[in-house]
Amino acid sequence: MSPNEQTYSRFCSFCGRESDDVEVLIQGPDGVAICNFCVDEAREMISSLRKEKARTKAGAPSKLLKPKEIYDFLSQYVIGQEEAKKTIAVAVYNHYKRIMSAPKSDKDVELEKSNILMVGPTGTGKTLIARSIAKLLDVPFAIADATVLTQAGYVGEDVETILTRLLQAADYDVERAQQGIVFIDEIDKIARKGDNPSITRDVSGEGVQQALLKLLEGSVVNVPPKGGRKHPMQDFIKVDTSNILFIAGGAFDGLEKIIAKRLNKQAVGYQNKSRRKIDDENLLRYVTPEDVRKFGLIPEIIGRLPVITHLEPLDKKALKNILTQPKNALIKQYEYLFGLDNIELQFTEDALDLIVDTAYRFRLGARGLRSLTELILRDTMFDLPEKEGTKLIVDKKFVENKLQHLEPEKLKLSA
Ligand code: ADP
Repeated sequence: MSPNEQTYSRFCSFCGRESDDVEVLIQGPDGVAICNFCVDEAREMISSLRKEKARTKAGAPSKLLKPKEIYDFLSQYVIGQEEAKKTIAVAVYNHYKRIMSAPKSDKDVELEKSNILMVGPTGTGKTLIARSIAKLLDVPFAIADATVLTQAGYVGEDVETILTRLLQAADYDVERAQQGIVFIDEIDKIARKGDNPSITRDVSGEGVQQALLKLLEGSVVNVPPKGGRKHPMQDFIKVDTSNILFIAGGAFDGLEKIIAKRLNKQAVGYQNKSRRKIDDENLLRYVTPEDVRKFGLIPEIIGRLPVITHLEPLDKKALKNILTQPKNALIKQYEYLFGLDNIELQFTEDALDLIVDTAYRFRLGARGLRSLTELILRDTMFDLPEKEGTKLIVDKKFVENKLQHLEPEKLKLSA
């Protein structure tokens, strides 16, 4: 037989089936062959091995990171917010320490979950912190908007759909999802109206809080794999929420007044002088669970969010730092983007200051920085490919020119 001559096999080398008994018999070298049955079986074996491998890799982070390490990582992305970063670093450390030291006997102390509540103005980094933690730990992460949730039976989303998103983020690997992080945004919007418990529960407020409670306290929940309304014909996936870390955030407009009252200070809005003083002090830093209860979260929910922290409003210095300093700072991103077209982009200090001043003056916050920069560079980016090999210096004049017809309201919408 010459070396090039192919030997055909009539039998599968793995299961021995004859070619007549199979759909396909794939020929390999040296008279080796494999049938479609064995290919299917091999595929299944590979997929379950892969899942097994992912499972051991996933779950709780393999190495327990110390609070300082978590804080340092967060600081690469999040400017300022020192108190929040430290509090969250400790809470996350405790959370995963708890998972790793699950009690082995009834006598062992069972550590309670340290879900977190972040209180602070919109656009100050709440979502960014939660997202960064998930990135650091390499665990699935989902964001849920509390405003679209309703209690079961009403128009809107069931609370279980929050876990659908987490499952999707975990590629439907339930084990992995069960160790993930969920960020519940705008939790303040489902507050009970008024301080007194209502006799008839309001659909958008207390009812949703009650529904959320069962997720937060750790229980096995039936999750519709594709989301949407639960209906009896749909298969559910059972998800145990005991080890999922929930981080809730909200702006809690009006909370300052409650805090001020408690602190026995004159509430905002009486005299200009006292208003200034109270604003300057950033009352949110004194927030207590009782203030949040007065705002309208039910005590059971607050009890399940034992770690409360606040975020500071961003001043001009913070805005400028956000623009230039974080690992993926906006300016760095644009420099990189232009670099891909072989164009050197450079912002002068006074140009950056003007962008910051504008964002601050029109209360556009950190989100506004992006809209402003986008607006300033839009025309230039349009012609970008034709300008290869050049250098673009964005100075104050350039910015002034681009912003002269600025309509801040439009930016607010997109911010
Ligand atoms: P929110 O507090 O409303 O959840 P986000 O975390 O979504 O605010 O912030 C919006 C955007 O603004 C972020 O993607 C980020 O680019 C920027 N940003 C906000 N606060 C900070 C901060 N403290 N440090 C760095 N970037 C920030």
